Amino acid sequence: MKAITSCILNEQIWPNSNYVHYKFDLIKFGLLSITNRDYCCHMKVFLSIFFLFIIGFSNGQDLTEFGSLFNDLKVLSSDGMEGRKTGTAGNKKARQYIQNRFDEIGLNLYEENSLHEFETPGETFKVGYNIIGFLPGRSKDVIVISAHYDHLGIKDGQIFNGSDDNASGVSVLLYLAEKARKSDLHHTLIFVTFDAEEEGLLGAHAFVANPPVPIEKIIFNVNFDMVSRNGSKEIFASGTYHNPRFRDMIRDWRGDYPIKIRLGHDNPGDKKNDWTNSSDHAAFHKMGIPYLYFGVEDHEDYHKSTDTYDKTDFEFFGQVAKVLSDLVLRLDKLDIENDQ
Ligand SMILES: [Zn+2]
Repeated sequence: MKAITSCILNEQIWPNSNYVHYKFDLIKFGLLSITNRDYCCHMKVFLSIFFLFIIGFSNGQDLTEFGSLFNDLKVLSSDGMEGRKTGTAGNKKARQYIQNRFDEIGLNLYEENSLHEFETPGETFKVGYNIIGFLPGRSKDVIVISAHYDHLGIKDGQIFNGSDDNASGVSVLLYLAEKARKSDLHHTLIFVTFDAEEEGLLGAHAFVANPPVPIEKIIFNVNFDMVSRNGSKEIFASGTYHNPRFRDMIRDWRGDYPIKIRLGHDNPGDKKNDWTNSSDHAAFHKMGIPYLYFGVEDHEDYHKSTDTYDKTDFEFFGQVAKVLSDLVLRLDKLDIENDQ
């Protein structure tokens, strides 16, 4: 908690000016926004710091460790993104936001820009865009980290913000990318936010059909879809039914973390509860590539206009981001390709 006041206060002293520019950007943490531009008022500064102190204290957390996590969620699930439906202006805004974040984080691009364009089949022809960046590791073998950024758009005048589904997964992917960029990676990590998941996993299928590296170099997929809320504070690591080695790994590791990580939702014999084909990891599974899918149980706001930012369980979501990032970076250290 001690770091809160010193790090949240982003202070810049402008050249040739007596003004001190204080920017309190708690919006980054999804809690509050106070911006005092070109304003020198010590009492306000004092009160703001005091306020941050109280918020940090009541939360019991050092919020600075979450970087842009909460702000990414807030922006991607805002009304301005109009539900991010493939082929719409709102989807394009979300795409540009993610491209900018990839730039800020310093992800590498395979071509001159991060977009992978594809056409959606069927009567309602559209062009979709996956967004791809990567971080090189010592090995050319690739782990693909994925999360879809599209959602359901606007229906009957209602915006389907898709905060949990799946602005949350994209935000965790960006958080992980920041951590991974500062890590010594064994594998090459490809980060991809898929388009047109809601229309039948189309972006993911287009990606595996035309990947930026030879498909045999892709040895694993980690997919995030709906990771920001659960009444029981638990998240599923699904897919280990198909690759029992990873079941043992999750069992060994999950005791190290503050949230409950459950296994399951991956037995094709249990049709009603099987998530094997329920999100983009299915495209990798069909190619024989092992996957881990992280997501929560469906909730009452699933695929409704009420799946909004304010429903986020911020404490849980913050823990999820940290836990999943740590898990992926531990996974990266394993010799996955030679040890299956
Ligand atoms: Zn989803």
